[in-house]
Amino acid sequence: GDMQADGQADGQAGDGAIRSILIVGGGTAGWMTAAALAHALPRGCTITLVESDAIGTVGVGEATIPPIRLFNDTLGIDEGEFLKATKGSYKLGIEFVGWGQEGHRYFHPFGTFGKPFDLLAVHQHWLRARRAGSTIPLDALSMAWGAAARNRFAPPLADPRSVGSTFDYAYHFDAGLYAAFLRRFAEARRVVRVEGEVGDVALDGESGQVAHVTLTDGRRLAADLFVDCSGFRGLLIAGALGVGFEDWTHWLPCDRAVAVPSANTGPLTPYTRSTARAAGWQWRIPLQHRTGNGYVYASRHLSDDEAAATLLANLDGEALGDPRPLRFTTGRRTAFWRRNVVAIGLASGFMEPLESTSIHLIQAGIAKLLAYFPTRAFEPAGIAEYNRVAVTESERIRDFLILHYVLTERGDTDFWRACAAMDIPDTLKLKIDHFRAHGRLVAREMDLFGPASWLAVHIGQGNWPAALDPLIAYAGEPAESVRFVERLAEAIARGAETMPEHAAFIARRIAG
Ligand code: FAD
Repeated sequence: GDMQADGQADGQAGDGAIRSILIVGGGTAGWMTAAALAHALPRGCTITLVESDAIGTVGVGEATIPPIRLFNDTLGIDEGEFLKATKGSYKLGIEFVGWGQEGHRYFHPFGTFGKPFDLLAVHQHWLRARRAGSTIPLDALSMAWGAAARNRFAPPLADPRSVGSTFDYAYHFDAGLYAAFLRRFAEARRVVRVEGEVGDVALDGESGQVAHVTLTDGRRLAADLFVDCSGFRGLLIAGALGVGFEDWTHWLPCDRAVAVPSANTGPLTPYTRSTARAAGWQWRIPLQHRTGNGYVYASRHLSDDEAAATLLANLDGEALGDPRPLRFTTGRRTAFWRRNVVAIGLASGFMEPLESTSIHLIQAGIAKLLAYFPTRAFEPAGIAEYNRVAVTESERIRDFLILHYVLTERGDTDFWRACAAMDIPDTLKLKIDHFRAHGRLVAREMDLFGPASWLAVHIGQGNWPAALDPLIAYAGEPAESVRFVERLAEAIARGAETMPEHAAFIARRIAG
């Protein structure tokens, strides 16, 4: 039967208000959307989610960035309960191994490199100190790395005068367990889950809007608003509405991954590791009960068998199960929202997991849907603004990811030589050129990754500035920069030494 409910019945939603929402898909995207909408629309609108147990979810995706905390906080989720339910750990950033050159490493921290003591950016003093003979590495100015390198964790301090306030954090977790956790949250708030496979999508002849979907067993689900969380296939946005895809493979060449969990060995590290390999890179993501591993690679340069063999040969602990292959095309939908369909998650596009941005883009999609929440008139202005912001956000992330590839100095394989030689977007070239000239970190509107993130990758991969900021000529003697950098590194090391061990901190948090 027809399952559209009438939200007018409880007298809340006004004229033209959306009274029913159907979320198609129950992966991380579907359940994050269901939980957030249930929280934001506590009455006056029915929320239904349909998912197919037979099709299942993509089943990878374990690392996040700090804004995830805002998502959990907004929903009132307790951190200890969340870590317990998702087998989660803390993440202070990403260690990149072998990206600039073989044998090199650097850290992309959450947070900043110290705090400025004058008008100049800290790294200008650091660059001057190096020229004056200081050997202190950039990492030593990061409180996040100070803790991460020691396998320690504590939340940032509130006192802005302390270096203990200069870092931020996110989580690693089992995304399947997170979806299950959010399902319980959503179902407790009246979200109705329907198990079944969508076979057909019917459009309204006049408006071209999606009218209802039909399950393979004949059940029909109608709604005012549809959220397409059906994963790569994009059942509604692409399948029914025919929205196209902008392919970014020429900039981000990896198009496959093979993933396998392994047994934990050694201490629980509070950071992700990304190790460059012959035709891509390998992730290492520590969870409480196991370690997630995967090799992201370019199929033009490497066979699936070679990728799986390389992955299995480079695990810390014993493999738990067989390697799982995944295929993807990097890029975005030409529109994220069309008519009465909003695509969130993999249905809206995908960028490889190099900086753990997919779950964040789900969150950003939900936030924008609430910011431009429609009426049944689906005013074009709100939809256009949603799409404009979504496109810009994606392109900013895309540029940051390309930076990692194009700045490589590796010449050992065709893959890396092709990366170093590729043409890049002008928006990225501008940033690289400004940094190379005077070490300037040019920010652009809607950058997700701030100046410190860009700095970490520029320096980590050898994009050294030709000259310093001209202002530094007015900032005393080079010896003052040396002293400043030394004192900062000492304060960070001292602060990090006082932090508890990462695994011990998690155990305490879970115990409440
Ligand atoms: P899916 O998980 O594919 O879910 C799709 C849902 O739609 C499923 O419930 C399915 O049953 C349902 N469905 C599909 N068709 C039908 C149908 N016909 N009828 C009914 N239901 C249907 N993200 C991060 O943030 N951090 C990471 O570290 C990270 N690592 C990744 C590594 C790899 C190799 C890949 C490929 C992705 C990674 N991601 C990561 C991305 C992350 O996995 C996804 O963003 C996230 O899981 C969201 O997926 P989804 O819910 O959009 O799609």
